[in-house]
Amino acid sequence: MIEPIIDSRVIEHLQRLLKGARHIVLTCHLSPDGDALGSTLGLCRVLRNMGKDAHVVVPDQVPRALLFVPGVRDVVVYSLSQLRGRFLFREADLVFCLDFNTLQRVDKLAPVIAQCRAPRVLIDHHLDPDNDFDVKISFPHLSSTCEVVYRTLMQLALLRYVDTEAAQCFYTGMMTDTGNFTYSSDYPEIYEIVAQLVAYGINKQWLYNMAMNTFSAESLRLQGYALSEKMQIFPDAGAALITLTRAELERFGYRKGDTEGLVNKPLSIPEVHWVMFLREDPDQIKVSCRSEGNFSVSDICARYFGGGGHRNAAGGDFQGSMEDAIDVFFQVLEDTCFENE
Ligand code: 5GP
Ligand code: MN
Repeated sequence: MIEPIIDSRVIEHLQRLLKGARHIVLTCHLSPDGDALGSTLGLCRVLRNMGKDAHVVVPDQVPRALLFVPGVRDVVVYSLSQLRGRFLFREADLVFCLDFNTLQRVDKLAPVIAQCRAPRVLIDHHLDPDNDFDVKISFPHLSSTCEVVYRTLMQLALLRYVDTEAAQCFYTGMMTDTGNFTYSSDYPEIYEIVAQLVAYGINKQWLYNMAMNTFSAESLRLQGYALSEKMQIFPDAGAALITLTRAELERFGYRKGDTEGLVNKPLSIPEVHWVMFLREDPDQIKVSCRSEGNFSVSDICARYFGGGGHRNAAGGDFQGSMEDAIDVFFQVLEDTCFENE
């Protein structure tokens, strides 16, 4: 039995908004991941099955590795099609903001969403969502936005509009945000939802292979190089650092998404409890952190890199040189060792 956890007044409010809406836009965070795309595309599919005119607008390009998500070829990429994106938001009478907690996470789409006259519905699982939303459905202790969307549909009594394609989308986000049901998934109800998704006819093994076990040869070589040559371990601090400069990325023909999953690898070393990965992107150093247990990398990313995320998976960015970013890592080591004494 999946308990209803969303307040019934919130559900009634959303029900009224949905009833009056014909044109609906769904959006998610910059550099969309499996949960961002799974939740927007899955809910978009359900809304279309209900007869709504629904469209997904994402801030920037979808990584190649996620081009398997059903319906993905139909999304509007705002960085490439600004006029179309703005048109859809202008026409919208309801907007769904999925898998982010603040408009800062949608980059150049933020002013477009802020100026849009349509009510905004947030469905998310990040800590501390902003108050910029008319309806807020936020459950940070749940696995994924896909799970929260599924529970929302259940409470709205709309599960009859879920089909195999929508179920494949929802499963994708639940699987990728839990490392194939490793972390953030220690409660029975998540498997009841999985059981229902399987009953919709999803192809679990195909989704796993596409989402989590497909890499290009260049990407595997880059990850091998990073682990062999660029991973530093600090056993006393329980930490590991991986850095990749622009030149190193280019040497391996880097394409967006090629380092996906790399930051998790050092956690398999018993002495390592948290990891920082610094990647030199064209306009910034991208920071990505993972941890296990109570150590909050979300706090670290917020405090040192103006970012955030979840306790065990967080990110941010750094404006400056790789050397200066590495210095911040050592500052974190010094500060956390001091705090733990
Ligand atoms: P990843 O390390 O896979 O890029 O991101 C892990 C998680 O950290 C994401 O799901 C997201 O919640 C959060 N995150 C990543 N980058 C940023 C960022 O620049 N700002 C904020 N606020 N959160 C981020
Ligand atoms: Mn998510």
